[in-house]
Amino acid sequence: MTAAIIDGKAFAATLRARLAEVAAGFVARAGRKPGLAVVLVGEDAASSVYVGAKGKATEAAGMASFTHRLPADTAEADLLALVATLNADPAVDGILVQLPLPPQIDSNAVIAAIDPDKDVDGFHPINAGRLASGLPGFVPCTPLGCLMLLKDRHEHLAGLEAVVVGRSNIVGKPMAHLLLRESCTVTIAHSRTRDLFGAVRRADIVVAAVGVPELIRGDWIKPGATVIDVGINRIDADEGKTRLVGDVAFAEAREVAGAITPVPGGVGPMTIAVLLRNTLVAAHLHEGLVAPDGL
Ligand code: NAD
Repeated sequence: MTAAIIDGKAFAATLRARLAEVAAGFVARAGRKPGLAVVLVGEDAASSVYVGAKGKATEAAGMASFTHRLPADTAEADLLALVATLNADPAVDGILVQLPLPPQIDSNAVIAAIDPDKDVDGFHPINAGRLASGLPGFVPCTPLGCLMLLKDRHEHLAGLEAVVVGRSNIVGKPMAHLLLRESCTVTIAHSRTRDLFGAVRRADIVVAAVGVPELIRGDWIKPGATVIDVGINRIDADEGKTRLVGDVAFAEAREVAGAITPVPGGVGPMTIAVLLRNTLVAAHLHEGLVAPDGL
């Protein structure tokens, strides 16, 4: 069997087009654009590229983008003061502080300072608690994007065996909660799991969020399973070049799986699209408007 390729790039493009329509409707009703503030501290090259891409995508969707680039030696108190200003700014619906932060700044303190109703990254403990308790709130963008891809593929997720490999607060844990909310039987595997092969082998759904290139091999996958590869790993390739691979050995796994996301072009494009979606939901909440169905 050769797996169907789950085209996250195309799915994200369709979602972004829909979000642009909804944003236009919001502008007509609220008399202002939904606004996303992105804060970058320091000059990390990858983070700078992400922040630039987020700003461009925000504007392309007809939303207002406010980018704050602060020097690497910014004091925690100054970043907290900026967050307080953004919390109070009615033009800002969503606040995202790009991680990782420099060592002098406590990321947890900064995340906790963001107004939970503007926490479009879904990292605030209040939103993590809401997700764990099955209450409405903001859900981290990458796992929510993975769930959208899974729901597009599976009409019913209830009762399926799912394994999430990785237990980070950003991907693994919220992904597991989302799958539990869909009534999957969820296993969370991590660096101390004794039988990773066994956990993956019995899963109908595999979500890999590890950061180890091609850790999960093709013969670990249950035939017909759906594989969502969150990993983004740069490895050496021929002629001194590099290339991106996921946490799953794609060429092997696609011979066994029923469907699989490629890297790049799978989960990656979903993250920014869901960030825009969360910002649009926040904007509707802040204006007391009902967001259209299906957002
Ligand atoms: P993280 O380093 O915070 O967490 C990695 C997790 O993997 C940990 O919970 C750890 O226990 C587990 N792990 C490590 N080695 C393992 C092993 N050998 N076997 C089983 N589990 C193991 O990483 P993260 O932030 O969750 O990101 C994971 C991957 O996803 C990275 O490659 C990252 O670049 C990628 N990522 C992609 C997107 C996207 O938009 N596509 C977003 C976030 C993260």
